[in-house]
Amino acid sequence: MQAPDPSAPPLSSATTAPPTPAQSERLLARLRRLSVYFGHQRLAWTLAVVATLVGAITEPLIPALLKPLLDRGFTEGALSLWTVPLAIMGVFVVRGTAQFVGQYALARIANEGMLILRQTLFARLLAADMGLFARQSASALSNTVVYEVQTGATLLVQALLGLSRDGFTLLALLGYLMYLNWQLTLIVTVIVPGVAWIMKTLSRRLYSLTKRSQKATDELAYVVEENVLAHRMVRLHGAQTGQAERFSVLSHSLRRLAIKSTIASSAMTPLTQLLAAAALSTVICVALWQSRSATGPHDVTVGGFVAFITAMLMLIAPIRRLADVANPITRGVAALERGMALLGDTPAETGGSYAPQQVQGAISLQGVSVAFAADQAPALDNISLHIQPGEIVALVGPSGAGKTTLVNLLPRFIAPSKGQVLLDEHALPDWQLDSLRAQFALVSQDVVMFNDSIAANVALGAAVDVVRVQECLAAANLAEHIAALPQGIHTVLGHNAVQLSGGQRQRLAIARALYKNAPILILDEATSALDTESERLVQEALQRLMRGRTTLVIAHRLSTIEHADRVVVMERGRIAEQGTHAELMALGGLYARLQTRPHVA
Ligand code: ADP
Ligand code: MG
Repeated sequence: MQAPDPSAPPLSSATTAPPTPAQSERLLARLRRLSVYFGHQRLAWTLAVVATLVGAITEPLIPALLKPLLDRGFTEGALSLWTVPLAIMGVFVVRGTAQFVGQYALARIANEGMLILRQTLFARLLAADMGLFARQSASALSNTVVYEVQTGATLLVQALLGLSRDGFTLLALLGYLMYLNWQLTLIVTVIVPGVAWIMKTLSRRLYSLTKRSQKATDELAYVVEENVLAHRMVRLHGAQTGQAERFSVLSHSLRRLAIKSTIASSAMTPLTQLLAAAALSTVICVALWQSRSATGPHDVTVGGFVAFITAMLMLIAPIRRLADVANPITRGVAALERGMALLGDTPAETGGSYAPQQVQGAISLQGVSVAFAADQAPALDNISLHIQPGEIVALVGPSGAGKTTLVNLLPRFIAPSKGQVLLDEHALPDWQLDSLRAQFALVSQDVVMFNDSIAANVALGAAVDVVRVQECLAAANLAEHIAALPQGIHTVLGHNAVQLSGGQRQRLAIARALYKNAPILILDEATSALDTESERLVQEALQRLMRGRTTLVIAHRLSTIEHADRVVVMERGRIAEQGTHAELMALGGLYARLQTRPHVA
């Protein structure tokens, strides 16, 4: 197992300041909270601790072997040759086994904990209150669930095991030194705090330098990104000099920081070695003096002396690592806590218990307002609307009028800030969530496809019935195109189905809605990506889809609106007018204006 290299840049996702004493107390409490995920592996933890203990005990065995080798082997010539390979191989077999078992146990603990934590996080993501997705970006969430959990778990478990290994090793070596010569050992103990202090000071400096260079690197990358995105504007406005200047300033500061951190990290080894050399020379002088004056408590033999020096030098590595052990632990805990925060701060969606067999499809909005932000005009402002079962209602109005917001209320994608929404006379929060959402099929402007087969995408969430999938694709006028694909409906779509055109994707979404066969249909600009010809094809499918279902259709095209029983015209979160197409045209208000200037919408 490799101790985390202090000169390695901390992962940007897992950075926290080095802990102060007050923090380390809290660190224990924080570690305890994580034990839910990482503490269950009793056997693995026991194995890991036993293995590190055994490994630590073998450390002083190496200098201890030197003593008889030098004293009896070389000086007295009394050592049997066969004992040499036996002892050396023996030590390394034990050491190797301990190392192997330790690493294995470590991997088990870290990965098992990671598995539980990741699954819990993803389950929460699937059930989370939808506000989460407005607060956090997709990349931030996937970063937390995928990478932070991994970095955190690995860092933490490694550091904890490193701590026990180095701690035990240090104790074993010091014990052996005491046993050899306690007076000399007192001199040695001077280097312990010395090395620790150097490590601490330098790694603090390294840490702040790394953080600063990370920030500078981000900024540098941002300048490049901006210039790539805006390359036309940069050329057109002749802004190259200014941009090059920005880039140059950042590059220079990055270079300065890199050199500073090299200075800090390269000074570490020589400084600790200098300290070790000082201790070494003192020890040698004292040992020589002890052996000459014969006043010492021991006869210092050559073997004993070499064993002492070796054990003493072996102290340096564990001290160096121990001095910096709090850093990876805090970083690991901090990374894992971002995952825990996701669990703690994100309540799961809650639903009621009403789950009827059959729904009528009567929708009723009673004085509903929706405000996304306090400083913004409400997206919906005191809307009251009643839709009969089986009625087809068209929502029209300029962009930003609140049409999408209104339909998003129905499957409880958002909650009203005022008023209430009822389905079949039952307030939405009383409905069992699964049951509520089973009542809606939605085709929206932004079609989302999974990286799965076409059949699985059409059947989404339900079992694939090949015959029905094909029927739905045919009804959505997509059958021909898909039959032409080499693997037909089993073709895997790839990342968000980029190989399909906008119109094809929208027709696939319509096929999905057909497959779901839900009593209430929501079409949010479902045909906006279609050209007139495809729309004519799809319109027929939609007409079939709407039959006998309560339908809310948001559309701009007259061809869609004409079929509606009622047109509701919205403007700035309010209902401006409603009636049939003919009535509204006759009224000569907003609707009439929108129809004569459709591009406003
Ligand atoms: P439409 O569908 O009629 O074009 P929307 O319902 O999408 O309009 O939007 C209505 C208003 O609410 C707009 O002003 C829009 O900026 C705002 N809005 C919509 N969704 C959000 C959101 N998630 N966060 C903040 N504001 C939003
Ligand atoms: Mg919209």
